[in-house]
Amino acid sequence: CFLISFVWHIYIHSMAETPSKPSDNNKLAGKVAIITGGASGIGEATARLFAEHGALIVVIADIQDELGHQVASSIGRHRCSYKHCDVTDEEQVKSLVEWTVKNFGRLDIMFSNAGILGNSDQTILNLDLSGFDRLFAINARGMATCVKHAARVMVEQRLRGSIVCTASVAASSGGRRRTDYHMSKHAVLGLVRSASMQLGVHGIRVNCVSPYGVVTPMTLHAHRKGVEELENMYEPNMSLKGAALTAKHVADAVLFLACNDSEMVTGHDLLVDGGYRIQ
Ligand code: NAD
Repeated sequence: CFLISFVWHIYIHSMAETPSKPSDNNKLAGKVAIITGGASGIGEATARLFAEHGALIVVIADIQDELGHQVASSIGRHRCSYKHCDVTDEEQVKSLVEWTVKNFGRLDIMFSNAGILGNSDQTILNLDLSGFDRLFAINARGMATCVKHAARVMVEQRLRGSIVCTASVAASSGGRRRTDYHMSKHAVLGLVRSASMQLGVHGIRVNCVSPYGVVTPMTLHAHRKGVEELENMYEPNMSLKGAALTAKHVADAVLFLACNDSEMVTGHDLLVDGGYRIQ
């Protein structure tokens, strides 16, 4: 695990050094955001981007405390805080939201992103139900818990907040394996579509991003491959050639959904998949 985190951090720092396109760098000025699963991978890349875009504060919530504190420090304590939160525990989610509002006055953005991949060998024939329950507790129930508590405070504060969830291409396709993962990501789409209909009356938007294969500690660990090997494994399934899909690409899509550029977009599933075609 240490080795995977180490490889990931070298990789994300090398991405940060590539010159970025000129852009309006202040899309989140004054906004307060929570990112679950923010200590690593897509969540970490999004925390960095939110801070670059002037967010007043980005609260990273995760169960990897040491890593979470390191990421928050490297972004800068004036822009980023770490808070322990296991999304399977409703009390912890509730107190994460309450702590954020108490310390920073408001909550404008919830990026509900924490998720796991589970057991790689699962087909319906050998479904391990204890693994199934744990995966659903994080990927489906945990996602709903975060949306619930963020939305409650946004309604109370009369904020036109933005909630973004991380689904996956697995949310709209079947899988030859990982039955439980595909099911849990389909549940995220159901959550986003229902919550967006229910919260629109309060001006709150709910959307999701659906990435295809991105090199992160989760995928490095699951496939037991190196960065380049993993990129080469994903590449044939994408229509777009010549570049790998990265956590920064997903973060860019999350930023779009989080900020006012997408003011009238809700209930949407934004694929960030390089034109993924596996069938
Ligand atoms: P990652 O493992 O790098 O990050 C996931 C983070 O979630 C980790 O920091 C982990 O500690 C945290 N987490 C796990 N369980 C938690 C819990 N109970 N409470 C709080 N935090 C918890 O993986 P990633 O690839 O960045 O994944 C982020 C999201 O993206 C997941 O929802 C995943 O399903 C989704 N996704 C990833 C890919 C990909 O190819 N990497 C593709 C599609 C969707």
